[in-house]
Amino acid sequence: MEEEYKYMRRCIQLAQNGRCNAAPNPMVGAVIVCDRQIIGEGYHIRCGEAHAEVNAIRSVKDPSLLKRSTIYVSLEPCSHYGKTPPCADLIIEKQIPRIVIGCIDPFSEVAGRGIRKLKDAGREVIVGVMEEECRQLIRRFITFHTLHRPYITLKWAESADGYLDMQRKDGCPVMLSSPLTSMLVHKKRTEHSAIMVGTRTARLDNPGLTVRHWYGRSPVRVVIDRSAALSPALQLFDGNTPTLVFTEKPHEAALNVEYIPIDYSQDTLPQMMHALYERRLQSLLVEGGSMLLQSFIDAGLWDEAFVETAPVLLHSGAKAPKISDDMPFEVSLVFGRNFRHYRQANRANAG
Ligand SMILES: [Zn+2]
Repeated sequence: MEEEYKYMRRCIQLAQNGRCNAAPNPMVGAVIVCDRQIIGEGYHIRCGEAHAEVNAIRSVKDPSLLKRSTIYVSLEPCSHYGKTPPCADLIIEKQIPRIVIGCIDPFSEVAGRGIRKLKDAGREVIVGVMEEECRQLIRRFITFHTLHRPYITLKWAESADGYLDMQRKDGCPVMLSSPLTSMLVHKKRTEHSAIMVGTRTARLDNPGLTVRHWYGRSPVRVVIDRSAALSPALQLFDGNTPTLVFTEKPHEAALNVEYIPIDYSQDTLPQMMHALYERRLQSLLVEGGSMLLQSFIDAGLWDEAFVETAPVLLHSGAKAPKISDDMPFEVSLVFGRNFRHYRQANRANAG
């Protein structure tokens, strides 16, 4: 069993390389072991390209070893024709006799079918090694498909006395993130499909919301502009990256900007999240301001929150959002800064 954990841990590690590009597919990793040696490894690199199992099998130098190998994979091999042929068929074709699976596919229409196919072909199949960790790995995917909304991460920086980032002292914003922690912020950006700010933040901070201090593509930008009050000269409307605008009023068309009407007589956040779901945006980073963040918290509409505390006293300004004191969090020290990391219990456990 020790062995099984070791290789499944490696699968999870590999899978995480797909964090920025696998979506909307789940992150998956696979390892092939023969005579207690890893002879192949792979992960799902990019949506539309080869699955983890295919990459692992391709990486094996001597394919004759496959006939007496075990393949470890963090998620049940697929059994249906999607953009690529089913992995369960490939494993059967390559005559791999033993398959160890982290967790079954969470969707009822496919759950267990890959496993059944492998068993029907006479293969030994073991399911549930590091199951919880493997499910955690794909929590964005599970949340998106079961709750029909993106996986929501809240992020802000606050002063030691609880005021929010980007306060204006004498008209100039005070930046609470340090140059090092803003790298982390940009890393978070590229790990999400979309990024959202409220009207006030868009108007006063004029953020570009692109990824500059890290590698990777910029997320789709999302802003609320109920009464068409935002200036078209803002960076959000520069056309360099797609921007979605939630609004009640008609706007003039602009390059790379989509206006999405919202019914303000109803709850607005669920409508907005549904619109992102329809556009297949699997994860959302909410960067502010305080009112928008607090409305997500009050609606219980969030999955993770990262709060950076700067060793600075501001004494006044917009109060930082507040998450209930009962909510447990982990503290980490990154580049000398305190980060609180909250994570909601996984409410989207399907099956
Ligand atoms: Zn597959």
